[in-house]
Amino acid sequence: MTEISLAILGAGTFGLSTALAWRKTHPSARISLIDVKPSPLVRTEVNANNIIPASEDVGKIIRAAYASPEYAQLASEALEIWHSESPYRDYFHQSGWVVANELTEAEISITEGNPIGRERYEEAFPASSLDDGYVITEDTEPGWVEASKCLEAVLRVAMDQGIEYVSGEAVGLLWQESRCTGIKMRDGKEISAENIVLAMGPWTPGFLQKCGVAASIPCEVAGVTAVSVKLDENEYRTYKDMPILMIPGAGEIMPPDRNRIIKINNTTAFYAPDISSLKISTQENPYFEENMAMLRKFLPALSSVPVVVRRHCFDMVTTPAQDFVISAIPELEHLFVAAGGSFHGWKFLPNIGRYVVKMIEGTLHPPWTELWRIGGTPSEHPIHLEVMPRGSHATVDFRRRRVYCQPGNNNSPTINLTSFDHKSRLPRPGPSSHDVTSLAVFTMPHITRRLYTTATSSSPTSAISIASQFLATSQSLPPLKHTQLLDANQLHLLSATLSRPIPLPQGGTPLPACYHLAYFTPSQREQDLGRDGSDTTFNPPRPFTRRMWAGGELEWVAGKEKGLKIGQRVTETTRLVKAEGKRTRAGEEMVVVGVEKELENEFGVAVVDRRNWIFRPEIIVSKEPAHKPVEVPFPHGKYTREFTQTPVSLFRFSALTFNGHKIHYDKEWCRQIEGHRDIVVHGPLNLINMVDLWRDFNGGEVLPRKVTYRATSPLYGGEKYRIVMDEEKGKVTDVKIVDSYGQIGMVGQIESV
Ligand SMILES: Cc1cc2nc3c(=O)[nH]c(=O)nc-3n(C[C@H](O)[C@H](O)[C@H](O)COP(=O)(O)OP(=O)(O)OC[C@H]3O[C@@H](n4cnc5c(N)ncnc54)[C@H](O)[C@@H]3O)c2cc1C
Repeated sequence: MTEISLAILGAGTFGLSTALAWRKTHPSARISLIDVKPSPLVRTEVNANNIIPASEDVGKIIRAAYASPEYAQLASEALEIWHSESPYRDYFHQSGWVVANELTEAEISITEGNPIGRERYEEAFPASSLDDGYVITEDTEPGWVEASKCLEAVLRVAMDQGIEYVSGEAVGLLWQESRCTGIKMRDGKEISAENIVLAMGPWTPGFLQKCGVAASIPCEVAGVTAVSVKLDENEYRTYKDMPILMIPGAGEIMPPDRNRIIKINNTTAFYAPDISSLKISTQENPYFEENMAMLRKFLPALSSVPVVVRRHCFDMVTTPAQDFVISAIPELEHLFVAAGGSFHGWKFLPNIGRYVVKMIEGTLHPPWTELWRIGGTPSEHPIHLEVMPRGSHATVDFRRRRVYCQPGNNNSPTINLTSFDHKSRLPRPGPSSHDVTSLAVFTMPHITRRLYTTATSSSPTSAISIASQFLATSQSLPPLKHTQLLDANQLHLLSATLSRPIPLPQGGTPLPACYHLAYFTPSQREQDLGRDGSDTTFNPPRPFTRRMWAGGELEWVAGKEKGLKIGQRVTETTRLVKAEGKRTRAGEEMVVVGVEKELENEFGVAVVDRRNWIFRPEIIVSKEPAHKPVEVPFPHGKYTREFTQTPVSLFRFSALTFNGHKIHYDKEWCRQIEGHRDIVVHGPLNLINMVDLWRDFNGGEVLPRKVTYRATSPLYGGEKYRIVMDEEKGKVTDVKIVDSYGQIGMVGQIESV
């Protein structure tokens, strides 16, 4: 790995995480982390001066429950680290949370846990009582982290790893034409680096403006007020194990930290300050009285504890879904942004940097690229529904909530609030008129269901432009290389799966034509697979994520002697050679992606395998399962062979090829989501069976020179189909697969040597 230097402006959540992730991939690169905050080696008390960015805090909530599957996945990954890795786990407390919701049960838009009674509430919050009007729920999974303390510990780890911490205010950027080459500091110092990341939280848009960068990031800067109070020893003992208390429509009361400090957030007042000012976070708190009233109401025993901090703290919020901005800056080189924490970014301290690094290196995959790039497609699931300033010059009063807007900005979209079925935890269709607060919580299966059953997505971007951008990005990357042993066991198992059992093959046994399809299997982690379980290594950006195997051609360029054999170490090199936006006859847009794979043994390239996949838009509205057509007699041919694939044979083929695509084994998914009448037979399995029939009538171990094939219609498990093969004419044999209803599933031509 080349040692590419990196300068990161902002040592908050995003900046620090990025520095550590860059160190992992570039062990001896020069990394500078720049912040106006003093170095942890000299500061004694965080927040001692007026510089109090969002990352610095008494406590932050850590939760994995998100309505958006992308953020749910990201948060689960982070949570795992919060539980297991030092120093993160040393500051994390799995306290759970209790939600006191003023809405009636029927009205409750969000279920943040299981309903609990007054008794449990009073046990969790001693010496408190609650009016009858509240519905109370509890979830034990979330927790909180001692934010500033943890940030400081992580910063020390970074410095131990040789990351240079530069304390000072950045005032500009250095340029060589459109290439950003460094950062200019107020004291005149210049810090140059190969890549520059702006991770300045809410200061980012103002800084870019100041530097004369024309690109604008669609975002708002919004704020939350907080008060911290200090308990005495007795009070601390009483409340130290309390869960987080969430009061939708009002705010949160955090458990006390080890300094006996309780923080009360008031989430009813968001406004956009002057983004050009550095003092975005201030120690003023215009809603101080409201914060204190909340404490008096919910924890009356603490009514007169001394106040130690008043804050008004800001974050950069993107519109309309509070996605992060992790992106290159258009038309400028080597300049990137990682910001837009949108009041939920802190929990990703352990892992967000990995994604920033991938973005810089051009290896970040969808959906992240699309969610986070400047001008990308926002998530369908707003993270918090109340943080966005709405309208221009407007002061909106939703019940008890005030939302102030930055003057002059009338681009803030209105968020359609969706109401949720309390029992099923599923959204009710259609927008609701009432204001809802805080967090939408679903379990993962419901998330999937919702994604595939409601039509709320924004209109897809054109397939042609997505395809050309995707092609340009993919072709700028090096080809994927994968070396493996052609092991005997895999061939043995594949033969058994095809009902052509053989004894365990010896080294040197030739690999039958197309059997390489069971080697070089994809190796993505489950969380990186598509929602339909498919491998996403070559997926174009959303919405074109529904993959189908369309066809291709294979050439055995080295012939039989120098061909692939058991026991060889073979390298597969894969290049993306094509991405084209197209339309089906019915007018549906799609992206056709072509890859070329070369399989190379000790003699050189033995097989070239070019294959095409069609990527259709992801399913927004589930399709009705198709009915079985009327059976018709099979066509005749010179050679024929019939198959009925069982769920077991398809499962075994999926397992052998490490293929998680649900269409091959999940009948419910096939019928209820994708509109297939049953599980779908794998394209490669059909190809192998077709070529096997040809082999069987051409002397067994023979290799063809070339095979071309096209999948024309799905073939289904449990349904009989027939391979029909003609007589060879001029070295070419036509083959097709026809189902019991007269539908052609695949056509191919096999050319002999
Ligand atoms: C009140 C509040 C409560 C929140 N609660 C939670 C929660 O419970 N859970 C959760 O997950 N998230 C929460 N968040 C969100 C989370 O805190 C933020 O999303 C996250 O910390 C943002 O990190 P950042 O690195 O983008 O920005 P910041 O933390 O703002 O860091 C930016 C850094 O850039 C530096 N900087 C800016 N300009 C310059 C300059 N010119 N020169 C040098 N340095 C500069 C600043 O000093 C700062 O350190 C909350 C946010 C707020 C405001």
